Amino acid sequence: MRPSLTAVTTPPNGPKSATEPLTSNAADASGLVPEPPVRAPGLSPSRAKDFQQCPLMFRYRVVDRLPEPPSPAATRGTLVHAVLEALFDLPAEARTAEAALELLDPHWQRLLARDPGLAGLFDSPEELAAWLTSARALLHRYFELEDPTRLQPRARELRVDHQLEDGPALRGIIDRVDVAPNGWVRLVDYKTGRSPRPGYEADALFQMRFYAFVVWRTRGVLPRTLQLEYLGDGTVVTHEPTEAEMATFETRIRALWQSVLEVAASGRWEPRPSPLCSWCSFRDLCPQFGGTPPPVDPASVLRAFGVGA
Ligand code: SF4
Repeated sequence: MRPSLTAVTTPPNGPKSATEPLTSNAADASGLVPEPPVRAPGLSPSRAKDFQQCPLMFRYRVVDRLPEPPSPAATRGTLVHAVLEALFDLPAEARTAEAALELLDPHWQRLLARDPGLAGLFDSPEELAAWLTSARALLHRYFELEDPTRLQPRARELRVDHQLEDGPALRGIIDRVDVAPNGWVRLVDYKTGRSPRPGYEADALFQMRFYAFVVWRTRGVLPRTLQLEYLGDGTVVTHEPTEAEMATFETRIRALWQSVLEVAASGRWEPRPSPLCSWCSFRDLCPQFGGTPPPVDPASVLRAFGVGA
């Protein structure tokens, strides 16, 4: 961890909503469980990226909400994230690599209890053992990147949500928020894959700028540092956002949302083939692969975007 981060700035016109503290999402102290509110149409960094990659894939995820089978890589990411979150429940001096490895099996059992189908990801005990070994390797690499005994995160798995005026609600979950004694804020995201090649960091930085923008608007603090920790190859990418960058981000996200609304209103959810189709769960329903998209349900479009199809 760098010893210092530079000054915190506030938006020129102040945050658009009441500022909220940078703390983890609190449980309902009253013990009463309120009715879940009807969620405003929203965008997360992942879904924004989906739309840019392929509008048809975006439709299947956001409008049709089609289930997708879990993959070993995504499940390993979930498991490693759960372990790293739990690591910070331990007293600082106890956050060792050995402690993290000890957390692995209980968290894997927890994931299995929640979704017993995950056991079907592996054809044999040997395959499962190799997968767990690869998860251990990622945890080991985490300890090469930083020393968690020296960190005291302000929040972990922080849910953020900002209603953009005349736009979508921007939502996401930030892996970790650190706040230096002088108030400088760092947003941290763990990646269990490898770092992008030089010149291809834009996608990952889009996600971090998204979080920085929401924190800036809701908390009145522009994060000083955005930090991506790639456990796949032991690389750390950092970026210092600026207010000018936030303004550009807002323009970009508004334009993207406008495109989403136009496609939703027209019903033209076009496939956009790319090498990434190899990882798409919806090839059976994709015209590029001989499939036929089912009719769009207008009620689902209305729910997702607040506009009629
Ligand atoms: S297979 Fe490719 S083109 Fe078809 S929906 Fe998936 S990402 Fe889009």
